[in-house]
Amino acid sequence: MPEKIKLAARKIPNLVRSHRVASEDPAAFCAGQVRYAPAKSFWLMAMLGGAVYGMLAFPQLSAMALFASVSAMVLLFGHSLGSHRKLIHDSFACPKWLEYLLVWLGVQVGLAGPIGLLRQHELRDYAQRQGDCHPFLRHGAGFWRDAWWQLHCDLVLVHAPAIRIEQRIAGDRCYRFLERTWMLQQLPLALVCYVWGGWAFVCWGVCARVVAGVSGHWLIGYFAHNHGDLAYEVEGAAVQGRNIRWTSLLTMGEGWHNNHHAFPRSARLGLAPGEWDPGWWALRALERVGLAWDLQLPGKPENKKA
Ligand SMILES: [Zn+2]
Ligand SMILES: [Zn+2]
Repeated sequence: MPEKIKLAARKIPNLVRSHRVASEDPAAFCAGQVRYAPAKSFWLMAMLGGAVYGMLAFPQLSAMALFASVSAMVLLFGHSLGSHRKLIHDSFACPKWLEYLLVWLGVQVGLAGPIGLLRQHELRDYAQRQGDCHPFLRHGAGFWRDAWWQLHCDLVLVHAPAIRIEQRIAGDRCYRFLERTWMLQQLPLALVCYVWGGWAFVCWGVCARVVAGVSGHWLIGYFAHNHGDLAYEVEGAAVQGRNIRWTSLLTMGEGWHNNHHAFPRSARLGLAPGEWDPGWWALRALERVGLAWDLQLPGKPENKKA
């Protein structure tokens, strides 16, 4: 990284205490093998098949509009608010029914079940805060290899650390059900799409949307750990998160990944003036109508983990 950017970045202490991952062995995050993961790979390829068929057979504006609007809704309320800011970081409070709805929408991205996604996030987050970690965990293997690894493979660590998931999630019957059935959770939306607009809407509203969500998640993950601005530097970390300004609207604010590495419990990701954060705007709107409260900010003391 250029020296002047590094010097400009504000140093932030590394937060690894009270983490869900527990390991005394820093080498545990380096030794491992990347292995082809058939289910993950077939899932994406099947969706890609449906998406390509839909683009060729049904090049309709109405189906494209459906793709864009359902994608935006799933990314904003599902991935950003439900999976990331609520389930993983518990960065705001809301009624239980709303939490379930947001997390269900998060499952619609098609990445994993809620518990699987949380495990992946926590392992990666903890590993990136060590002095070194496997290139799989820090998106450090180069663009094309990283694409193959993240979209079609899994990392099998030689000494996988324990990941403690609190009862609020691990003991929740709804989350355990979503974990077992996350691929099938596309069916209710697929049925609505079919009744509304036939196979054109299914191909665009489900298949193309899942392909865009899964590949977009990888693409942003790659850039957010390799290119972009550094406002903060987490001391001693194997890799720094990066802020990618031009993706702020597209990612619903998740592109402010440098801010997120610095303040993981903050419900607000865009911190400086001009750092657009649609997820934060939506949370403030929910707060105004009484559907969200206790929104965490970098300045506030971090809440304890249950
Ligand atoms: Zn990161
Ligand atoms: Zn996070």
